[in-house]
Amino acid sequence: MQTNKNQYILPDHRAEGKRNLNEPAEQKRFTLPAEYQSLGSGKTCCIRTYGCQANVRDGETIAGILQAMGFTVISEMEAADLLIFNTCAVRRAAEEHVLGEVGSLKTLKQKHPKKLIAICGCMAQEESVVEDLLKHYPQVDLIFGTHNLDQLPKLLANVINQHQRTVEVCSQEGSIIEGMPKERSRKYKAFVNIMYGCDKFCTYCIVPYTRGKQRSRYLDEIIAEVEEFKAAGGKEVQLLGQNVNAYGKDQGMEDGFTVLLKAVAETGIERIRFYTSNPRDYSFSTIEAMRDYPNIMKALHLPVQSGSNEVLRRMNRGYTREQFLKLVDDMKAVIPDITFTTDLIVGFPGETEAQFEETLSLVDYCRFDSAFAFVYSPREGTPAAAMEDDTPLAVKKQRLQRLNEKITQYARMNNEVYADQTVKVLCDGPSKNNPVVLCGYTESNKLVNFTSDTASEGDIVDVKITQVKSYTLDGKAI
Ligand code: SF4
Repeated sequence: MQTNKNQYILPDHRAEGKRNLNEPAEQKRFTLPAEYQSLGSGKTCCIRTYGCQANVRDGETIAGILQAMGFTVISEMEAADLLIFNTCAVRRAAEEHVLGEVGSLKTLKQKHPKKLIAICGCMAQEESVVEDLLKHYPQVDLIFGTHNLDQLPKLLANVINQHQRTVEVCSQEGSIIEGMPKERSRKYKAFVNIMYGCDKFCTYCIVPYTRGKQRSRYLDEIIAEVEEFKAAGGKEVQLLGQNVNAYGKDQGMEDGFTVLLKAVAETGIERIRFYTSNPRDYSFSTIEAMRDYPNIMKALHLPVQSGSNEVLRRMNRGYTREQFLKLVDDMKAVIPDITFTTDLIVGFPGETEAQFEETLSLVDYCRFDSAFAFVYSPREGTPAAAMEDDTPLAVKKQRLQRLNEKITQYARMNNEVYADQTVKVLCDGPSKNNPVVLCGYTESNKLVNFTSDTASEGDIVDVKITQVKSYTLDGKAI
């Protein structure tokens, strides 16, 4: 593979952090030029996706584009002609995992030099990661970022036809590209992007840099996607955005997320969920819409991150502990059977024992159904990475353990109410751990493993719960 460093387009955190909020994003349509339509004929590709639902959805687009180019998508990495690592940058541990996997491919690449290796996603938007890849991972042939998925055919052509190591990571987001091919990972559940990027700049978070400024898709495009999915037999849509409650603000919409949510509910699709909510942008009208439409699931993921006002201020979360608790109380008053899950960061720089205990007491108050709790992971280029942090890692790990014990205690307690109840489960097919058992999720987003002689993937099944565990339920279809 030849290298011409002058042609590399490298990430630039300064440019990534810039915002022009006066200009809403333009919309363009994807086309695949004829010259790329058979570039992958007779070749196989394997896509490894890490991280959040947005990345999973990007992985579906990458699969769709590659299939349109003639590639066959397979799951065995070693057998594929093209390997794509669709990466996540939210925590250092996730990055190290990917770098370890890519590192272990060096010998494979030496044996099979025609095998191509590509890195994309959020890690590709990080200056230091790309520098490291270029210096120490000669086996990587192509690096592209989150803003130019639509350019994948052109970039691959450069690698395949010109034998050029290619790096193109745009630091400015550009247009919203509609009509990109997609290969959904599930037939009955769809991730539907409603927006891209984020302008909130929480001080610990790399996403506003790696995913760019907030750009909402046009409402009619989203509704058309939901309707098409429903017409093909789809049952559940998961509306995706880094901060869904701010949907439409960049287009000047008033209360845009509620308007969108109602429009999606009116399509009659059976189940609607949305991720991720930011408490600071929640409007009461959204809560009312959740109450009024039975097809909007009453299970909410509402990340709080900390129970301490001082820590929330340093995180730039834009709400206080009291405002968060009021939001939870308001929702419970309007929707008594609503369930909550959350995200929590332990050991944010300067977090004291007393501040951590405020997080514990918030968990006691909210009694979340489950929570993703992690030790704070500094992300280079974010303000929090430069904050003083004198809490030893061992103390942070101990706090995490105490928090996780509490979370599990409430998860179990909340699950107890399902004992002997009958719940509606959207069947995902056989369980990964036990293929003779089926699995799926309740309306309240509980994972149920169940037996049935007749149910199959995509069915909504009445299941009687026979055993309650901390994070799953067992049952039998009735
Ligand atoms: S709202 Fe979410 S995605 Fe945006 S900066 Fe904060 S944590 Fe990151």
